Amino acid sequence: MKFTQPKLPYAQDALAPVISPTTIEFHYGKHEKAYIDTLNKLIEGTEYEDMPLEEIITKSDGKLFNNASQAWNHIFYFFQFSPDGFKEPSGKLREQIEKQYGSLEEFKKQFEEAGVGIFGSGWVWLSTDSNGQLFISQGKNAENPMTQGLKPILVFDVWEHAYYLDYQNLRASYLHKLWDIVDWAIIEMRYEG
Ligand code: MN
Repeated sequence: MKFTQPKLPYAQDALAPVISPTTIEFHYGKHEKAYIDTLNKLIEGTEYEDMPLEEIITKSDGKLFNNASQAWNHIFYFFQFSPDGFKEPSGKLREQIEKQYGSLEEFKKQFEEAGVGIFGSGWVWLSTDSNGQLFISQGKNAENPMTQGLKPILVFDVWEHAYYLDYQNLRASYLHKLWDIVDWAIIEMRYEG
C-alpha cells in the first residue's frame, strides 16, 4: 500500500499573511511530499508495507520512523488550519484548558514558550490522555507523543522551514501569529473524538 499526499482543504493563499503561499508551496508541496515519497520507498516489500501510518510510527525507529512521523505530523499540522475557522475553543476542551492553565491566554503563552524553547528543529504538541488531561510537550526532530501513549490534538511546527521564508529568525512571532488560523472546531473534534 502506498501513502498519498492529501490535497489541502484550502487554497494555497488562504492562510496569508500568517503562512504565505510560497511557504505552503515549499513546506507542504516539497518538504512534506518528500517525507511521503521516502516513506513509500522505505516500506516497499517490508513488514511495514500494509500497516496504517500510526502503527509504523509506533513500531519503527531510525530513518523509517523519521519519515513516517514527519509524513503524519505535517498532515496533522496543515489540516488544523482554516482562514475562517473557530477562533476559540468551547465545550469540554475550553473547560479543561481553563482548569489546567487558568485561561486560554495563559495556555497560549505557555504553548508558545514551549515552542520557542525547543533547541533546534522540532514540534510543540498539545496532547491528551484517556482521562482528558492535557499535556504540552516539546518534540525534537520528528518526535510524536503517540509513541508515549498520548493522543495529539494540536501541533506547531518549529523547524526553520516552517517559518523562515515569512518570519526569518523570528520564531516567537510565527508561533504567536499561528493562533489566527487555528480552527478550534478541529482541535475540539480531535479532543473529543
Ligand atoms: Mn515542517
